[in-house]
Amino acid sequence: MNKKTRTRFAPSPTGFLHVGGVRTALFAWLIAKQNGGDFILRIEDTDKIREVSGSEQHIIDSLHFVGIDWDEGPDIGGKFGPYRQSDKLTIYKEWAQKLVDKGRAYPDPYSQLELDQLREKAKAEKRPFLFREHRPKTFSKWDGNSTLRFKSDPKPYVWQDAVMGELSNGEEVIDDFIIMKNDGYPTYNFAHIIDDYLMEITHVLRSQEFISSTPKFLNLYEALEFERPILATLPFVMGPDGKKKLSKRDGAKDILDYKNEGYSPEALLNFLATLGWNDGTTQEIFSEKELIEKFSINRVSRSGAKFDEQRLLWLNGHYIREMALDDLFNKAKDYFPEEATAFDDNYKKNVLSIIQERLKFYSEIPSLTRFFFSEPSADLSLIEGNKQLSKIEPTTLVELLEASIEKLEASTFDTAKLSETLNTLLEETGQKPAILFSLIRVVTTWAPSSPGLVESLNVLGKETVLRRMQKAVVLLEKHKA
Ligand code: GLU
Repeated sequence: MNKKTRTRFAPSPTGFLHVGGVRTALFAWLIAKQNGGDFILRIEDTDKIREVSGSEQHIIDSLHFVGIDWDEGPDIGGKFGPYRQSDKLTIYKEWAQKLVDKGRAYPDPYSQLELDQLREKAKAEKRPFLFREHRPKTFSKWDGNSTLRFKSDPKPYVWQDAVMGELSNGEEVIDDFIIMKNDGYPTYNFAHIIDDYLMEITHVLRSQEFISSTPKFLNLYEALEFERPILATLPFVMGPDGKKKLSKRDGAKDILDYKNEGYSPEALLNFLATLGWNDGTTQEIFSEKELIEKFSINRVSRSGAKFDEQRLLWLNGHYIREMALDDLFNKAKDYFPEEATAFDDNYKKNVLSIIQERLKFYSEIPSLTRFFFSEPSADLSLIEGNKQLSKIEPTTLVELLEASIEKLEASTFDTAKLSETLNTLLEETGQKPAILFSLIRVVTTWAPSSPGLVESLNVLGKETVLRRMQKAVVLLEKHKA
């Protein structure tokens, strides 16, 4: 009988989750989903020194934000618990004792100082340090609280990695490593093997940083007589230059920052899934359902995927453009500038509808819309810095504004009529749109950019538009003098 697919995400609570971490979780989740299997969240908190308080909740919140859920985990329990390693120290101890009983683990007889000296000696003799060369002849009894080492059986391996293909190693990379520390905690190297076995994990997906340790793990699986799960190593997410691992400097941030900045979880999920994976076609937008159907670990690229923030912005913009206005409004309403509280939902929706096309993420809303909600302060540099407008005399600008005020006063402000009025103005003044329309745009928004002129004037309404234009006349008159 085929085993039920069970995959896991096993983060250490040492800080926030970034794109690489969530991508690992996502790929493991997709494998579980597409096979009708289970996805497990396991917290690997055996390194108390590196632990950052609050990380576990942060990890849970980050996964929830992108829509990854789990069938078993520290917050919901399950048949294979506990799901937090620190809650199962006696279990690791029992398994460690089994290895001791088999003669495959032994208490480390050296003090830190002695070990350092042995290492120094090897270094001076220019040979690699191998603990197993100093393995004691006879093993003493383990008291359960002191450092325990695995007695390795060094040998070459050839193994299949579901992403990287065939991998191999020589026996020199396998040494006697620590499995239990003297603080009563297991090491990662030991604990995850026990957990994956007890939790019946079928696929182990993890990042490239563990690849060099895999031969040790293979040796340990054998000593414990465990069937080895499918191993899949995901290459690093690389910075935008594609040369080194993505770092904070390249924009690697906490996944929850994307939540705060107003990214859509669907876009983020789509972005993460296509970070190093494609379905063999040029398709770039995948719904969650499509991802579950189409994802395949064999199509994950062996080389590091480049983190391209522009692509994320594009994808997020795509999801925003596709949204129905009411839906978008519900998601974006908390991001409006403070001044917007005085306005009704209808007006805010109108504003949103005209920026929907260019909006990339919700926290851009204040800077894109402020002039719709409060009087902008005039900034003449927008005229002086404008290639076309700076060539025109202030007197002419005033004349153009006065002519425009007159025509707009007599016009209604529905978009069809506004377009007609503006076109008549072009004809009558003999100006180019780059001059006349820019002028009206600048003095009614005082913003470096804004949505289409007709749409903006329509939303602002006649009274506001005329008031702002008149104010600009006064200002330019003063400037002229
Ligand atoms: N606890 C490890 C980490 O956070 C996970 C490695 C694994 O998935 O086995 O990097």
